[in-house]
Parts: sequence; structure tokens; C-alpha cells
Amino acid sequence: MTGDLPNMAVDQHGKQVMSLRDVALHGQGSLLTGHPMSNVDQGPKLERRPSFGSMSCASRALHPSDSYLLGPRRPRPHKIWKKKYIKVMVVGDSGLGKTTLVRALLSTPGERLQVHDGTYTSKEQWLKDPESLCSTVSWRDEDDRTIWVYKIQDTPGYGDDLDVSRSINLLTTYIEEQNHKWLDMEQSSERKDDMSEMEDPRVDICIFTIPPHRLRAVDIKVMFELGQHVPLVPVITKADTMTIREANSYRNDVATKLSNPMIPGVRDKINVFKFERDTLERAGIIDHATPTPPFLVVASNDINEDLNTGDPPVYWPERRYPWGTAEAFNREHSDLLGLRALLLKEALEEVNKTKRQRYEGWRRQALNAARNGRRLRHVLLWTIIPALACLHIGRTGVNINQVRNQVSNTTTKVRRRVQRLRSQPQAVAPPAEVAPPAPKQQEPQKQKQKWGVF
Ligand code: GDP
Repeated sequence: MTGDLPNMAVDQHGKQVMSLRDVALHGQGSLLTGHPMSNVDQGPKLERRPSFGSMSCASRALHPSDSYLLGPRRPRPHKIWKKKYIKVMVVGDSGLGKTTLVRALLSTPGERLQVHDGTYTSKEQWLKDPESLCSTVSWRDEDDRTIWVYKIQDTPGYGDDLDVSRSINLLTTYIEEQNHKWLDMEQSSERKDDMSEMEDPRVDICIFTIPPHRLRAVDIKVMFELGQHVPLVPVITKADTMTIREANSYRNDVATKLSNPMIPGVRDKINVFKFERDTLERAGIIDHATPTPPFLVVASNDINEDLNTGDPPVYWPERRYPWGTAEAFNREHSDLLGLRALLLKEALEEVNKTKRQRYEGWRRQALNAARNGRRLRHVLLWTIIPALACLHIGRTGVNINQVRNQVSNTTTKVRRRVQRLRSQPQAVAPPAEVAPPAPKQQEPQKQKQKWGVF
């Protein structure tokens, strides 16, 4: 019956309108009550119409941009652009290549990232203004209508500090402060309905740079303490300084120590971020001998200019030596490409989700601690202090004469004060008969009379 319908009708202005066969087949015009299309009936009526070209309220009413509303699939909602925030903290000893690594991770051929280098930053300066060590990049995911705002927080190296616990304290305090900032934003009376519209200061993940060749006890200690607050991605830098054999055995050695630290003061394994297996596969880093971190990376501030200016341009950092070139994004030389795929693409949602879950636990604890603090104050004020007072009285006894004198003194003081209050207004206010009798002045007179009652 519908075989003779043209696939796409054309209205009298020559515009294409919805396939009449679709209308006839699915009869969806009737879904639109009150719409001109709701008058369009099924096949038989269409057949009776003499000509499609001239017809029609259907063809006139149905604009091509509306036709998807009546197709075989239900319409999809229009997505609104939303922002998602990721904050990656980079921690490690000074001179390990943190800044070079971050630049290599985030730069593109057209845009070399200006990374704030924390190497020479004093801890006091960092405490005062951590933002001065923060680099931000953002990009749009058109499919998902998401704007990713990616922040990299560099930190001063801890190696120069004789007392490493001070460095640990600075770092963990920073992470806690960011959580508190978010909590305050949540509890603020001026907060927006949708928290996702607000800039999120919380730390998602920490790239922890490990020196090549030797993992020191102090590195494990810092990793352990930091891991109590945020999951780590351990990265061994300067992989080009190790031979293939050294690199493989060192990777295994570090992996073992991360899961079984065995140093005094470290009670448990290091909190390393667990990427999903699928995610690692998508990032192309599953087939290593040790598939989970640590990652072994080479980074460089020098790039291959030929590739950078080629068509298409490719960002290719490399380190040239007399005996050869170590390439940061060559998977045979370094895990940097896999790490970039993970941290900028494949694991973004995972990392973001884990932060939200972790924060919920933190929030519960923080609110419980605040509630317990209030309870403790209450108990102190209403139970413990009165109990101690009673105990004291019970021990020393009560001198009834002393109490009587105290009460009588206080009563006298109160009585005198009341009398003074009563006499004061009369002295200040003019006598009632001196006041002019004008009607407008009646209010003040009433006021004076009121005072006079005392
Ligand atoms: P930061 O103090 O941790 O930020 O370290 P920098 O990024 O400033 O790097 C310190 C030095 O290490 C610089 O001379 C870098 O060129 C060098 N460096 C960085 N990455 C690598 C690497 O993968 N291999 C080698 N051999 N040197 C590197």
C-alpha cells in the first residue's frame, strides 16, 4: 500500500519534507496531539489524496529538521555542555624530571605547555600560593559535550629537606585543605543547585616520580603517607639511563616494594591507583611483564622539529645522544604514550569517579568528627564540669554563711543597679510640663512617660 509513496516529499517551495512513507508506516503523526500533523491519517487516506506535491498540511507543516522526531527511533535529549575538573598532583624529589614529564604529557605540536617549575620554589612560597605552581589545560569533548579542565599541581621537591615529615605534612595538608574547600562550598548557603558547575579544587590523583636505579626508604615513606590521602601513579623517570635488563629488573623490584614495603613505620602496601584492565588495554599498556604500574618513562624538553612541522604535525619529544636517540613516545623506549593515553583519555572518567567515591568517605569522617566534637563540648559543659564542681563541693563541704553572704551581696548589687537605671532617664529627660504641647511631639512625650514608670 505504501510502495508507491515517494521516499521524500517536496513542498511547493521546493523544500524537502519528511518521508511520507515513514508517516504512513509508523503513523507517528497521530502522536502529536494538537499539532498539524495529528490530522494526517494512515495509508488509506493518503491514497485518496490526488497529488503529494500540492498536498499538504503534512508536507507544509513538517520541516526537515523536525523529521527525526517522527522517525523509527525516539528522539535523544539535547546535551548541555558541562565542565569536569581533574587535578593531578606531581610529587617527587628535586631534579627527577617532574617538570619535563608534565610538559611532555600535556603539550601538543602547536602548544608547548608552560609548566610552573617547583624545583626552586621555597616551601613557604608554596604554602602561601600553591596556585603559582599550577598549570591548567582544557579541551572540549564534542561527543560527550564535556569541557575537561585539567590542572597539574607541581610541588617543591622533598629531597632537600632534612626532616621529610615536614614535607609530607605540607603535601597532605594541601590535599586535606582542598577537600575542606569543597565541603565548605557544599555547605555554603550561596551554593549553586548543581555542584558540577563549580570549580572543583580536590586532588584526583598523584603522579609520584621515582628515581631510576634505586628506590630509597624515604621515597616509600613519602608514598605511603601520601597514599593515605590520594591514590598514586608511580612513575620511574629517566628510564633512558638504564639498560633494558636494568630497567626490567628495577621495574619488578619497585612493583614488589609497592605491594610489600617492609620498612619501619610503613604498615601496609602503598595505595597505588588501580586502573581497570580494560582501560589499560585501551591505553595499549597491558602486555608488559608487569602490567600494573610503575611506569618507566623518558621525557625531554627537546622535540623533533621535522615531525613538529610536518603534515599532520606530531609532537615528538626526544633525547639525542652520541650513540642514539631516546624517544619519549616510542613504546619500546618509554611508557609515556600509554601514560598519556590513560591520564588524558582512557582513565579520565575512572579517575574522576574514584575521586567522588573517596570524597564521600572523607566527608562522612569529617562530618562525624565535627559532630563528635560538638557532642564532647556539650558533655563537658553540662556533665563533666558540673560533676567536678559537685565533687569539689562534696570534698571541701559548703559553708552556709559564706553562701548567704554571697547571695546577699549579689542581691544588693542587683537592687542598686535597678535603682540607678530607674533614676537615669528622669535626670536626662526634661520634665513633662516643659515639653511643648504640639501634637507632633506626642510620640516623644509617650516615650518620656514610659521611661518615667521606672
Ligand atoms: P624537576 O626538578 O623534578 O622538575 O626536574 P626537571 O624537569 O627540571 O629536570 C631536571 C633535569 O633532568 C633536566 O636537565 C632534564 O632535562 C632532565 N631530565 C628530565 N627527564 C629526563 C629523562 O627522561 N631522561 C634524562 N636522562 N634526563 C631527564
